[in-house]
Amino acid sequence: MGEIRLGSTIRFSDTDHNRLITLQAENQQLRFLLSCRICRQNRIRCVFQCGHLTCWSCSEPLVDCSICGTKIRSRYSIYLHPP
Ligand SMILES: [Zn+2]
Ligand SMILES: [Zn+2]
Repeated sequence: MGEIRLGSTIRFSDTDHNRLITLQAENQQLRFLLSCRICRQNRIRCVFQCGHLTCWSCSEPLVDCSICGTKIRSRYSIYLHPP
């Protein structure tokens, strides 16, 4: 029978540690991808016909896409998971 020792320090193996690092990096990358490129604060909510994504508050005053400079002709809502 295995013994469970309470209060003992949990030790991560190197593999676990590496997995954790990888997950953290992936998480950071995903957060980055989901956040507005202009304000870096809000989640992306809107896509222009050039394919670039911003949040609503950044998209509203824009005439040209601030990422590639294309004139914005149409913008569409995108629907992600609820915040
Ligand atoms: Zn924004
Ligand atoms: Zn663009």
